Amino acid sequence: MTDRPDPYYELAEHWPDVKIRIRADLGNEAGQTLWLPDGSIEIHLALDLSKVERRCTLLHEIVHLRRGRPDTQRDPVDEAATIKQTARWLIADLCEFAAALVAYDVAEVARRFDVIPAIVYERLDHLTKSEMEHLIADLTTHAA
Ligand SMILES: [Zn+2]
Repeated sequence: MTDRPDPYYELAEHWPDVKIRIRADLGNEAGQTLWLPDGSIEIHLALDLSKVERRCTLLHEIVHLRRGRPDTQRDPVDEAATIKQTARWLIADLCEFAAALVAYDVAEVARRFDVIPAIVYERLDHLTKSEMEHLIADLTTHAA
């Protein structure tokens, strides 16, 4: 088992000035990163997230931080790239991923990677050609 990214470590180590605010009024959004006019940055998190949802949301927002301020707030291209990069970061070990996909349902695969099931689907949706070949080779080996 490889190391899982820890959002609290990432924030403390690389983004100590970013403020985290917990909000009850984010509607359908789990979180958002705000680049404020004074140069400060805040991550807003929905109050009602589970532990694993909060972890995934924070890591998604950290990918936004790494990518830097987008040209426009809620840029759909930036959001799509962030989703893709987050899934790749959270499910980094393809061999482990393949072994889990053979053995378990998606909910259990997600549990083993400490992610929400959506991340499993997002990782599968954005495999590169070589990752796809790697995964198919591994799936065939594990299933044999
Ligand atoms: Zn986002």
